[in-house]
Amino acid sequence: MIQPTVGHQSRDITLEGESTGAAGWWGVAPNRHSRAARPATIRVMRALRLHGPGDIRLDEVDPPTPDASTVIVRVEACGVCGSDVHFADGSARTGHVPITLGHEVAGTVVTAPGEKYPPGTDVVAEVGRFCLACPRCLEGRPNLCQRAQMLGIHVDGGFADLVAVPVASIVIRPPDVSVAAAATAADAGATALHAIERRAHVTKGETVLIIGAGGLGMYGIQWAQLAGAGAVIVADTNPRALEQAVVLGVDETVLVEEGASVGRQVKLLSDGGVDAAIEFVGAAAAVDAAVKSIRPGGRAVAVGVGLEPVVSLPVVLWSNHEYVLMGSYGSLPGDTHRVLEALSAGTVVSPRTVDVPLTGGPALFESLVAGQPQVPGRPIIRP
Ligand SMILES: [Zn+2]
Ligand SMILES: [Zn+2]
Repeated sequence: MIQPTVGHQSRDITLEGESTGAAGWWGVAPNRHSRAARPATIRVMRALRLHGPGDIRLDEVDPPTPDASTVIVRVEACGVCGSDVHFADGSARTGHVPITLGHEVAGTVVTAPGEKYPPGTDVVAEVGRFCLACPRCLEGRPNLCQRAQMLGIHVDGGFADLVAVPVASIVIRPPDVSVAAAATAADAGATALHAIERRAHVTKGETVLIIGAGGLGMYGIQWAQLAGAGAVIVADTNPRALEQAVVLGVDETVLVEEGASVGRQVKLLSDGGVDAAIEFVGAAAAVDAAVKSIRPGGRAVAVGVGLEPVVSLPVVLWSNHEYVLMGSYGSLPGDTHRVLEALSAGTVVSPRTVDVPLTGGPALFESLVAGQPQVPGRPIIRP
């Protein structure tokens, strides 16, 4: 485990990300230097680490050490996911603490074994590292690997100057995909792709409900449209998020308000219930709303992470209506590449992103955990 090195005597780093002027409530815009100006090696680096519920600190730690199977990536962008907020507020757990959060990494190669990824190569890191030998891996579901190590959840992630990524998890970033958009591909794009395509199994003409119009939800809308959904309905508590969903051409929006029944509203909009409802929130109320929005025989998919128990309906309704409630976790190797290709081809667009310097990380998380104010887009930490 990386040991904190606060007060390190040989603190000779000259990394970017220092303040250049006010640019938002969470802090300041990073000062971007050219790649050529960056130092080749550092002896201590900054990392935004979770120490426990509500306790996120910008620490100084030892940089990762290169080895025969590991690429050291200089992080240029790392997306802040809803699950990071769950980890930060204690409503979901990481493998251990302290840990550097951040599982949506895009950056450039510093060192890599072999010659496939020369220094300076623009890359994205797949989130999952799988054993490829356990029963789940062998049946083609490595995202359920019994020994899975997820970036920023089980091993140190990308809210840092540098991150260690297994060679097998490296994906090349197409030159026409921005580094911020590329970061969102690794989790928001890929996780939503897996949920819509393989779990909800959305098919042509179906009516689909997306609950949660954040980063994952915005991709989920587009994957459902590409799968040929006849209508897409989106529900969220944030009217500004719904406005962004409208730009993507969704058919109906539902503003989720205190005490109102989302299921009842969706059933009115969809002639008795949607074929598939996918929640990207991770709250019991969202899973509940998903189940109560589907038609008899419909599918509800829980994608978000959270610790609240979910018990929605009397048993007789489950049996008589043959409801299906299923989970969806992460994505499969190759999915991040597919998302990057789709972004490059313009068949999907990245959710709106908002740059935040690494130094603004603690304040950002404090605000996100408090629930206010809502960030107008997916925050992207830019070390
Ligand atoms: Zn995530
Ligand atoms: Zn496995």
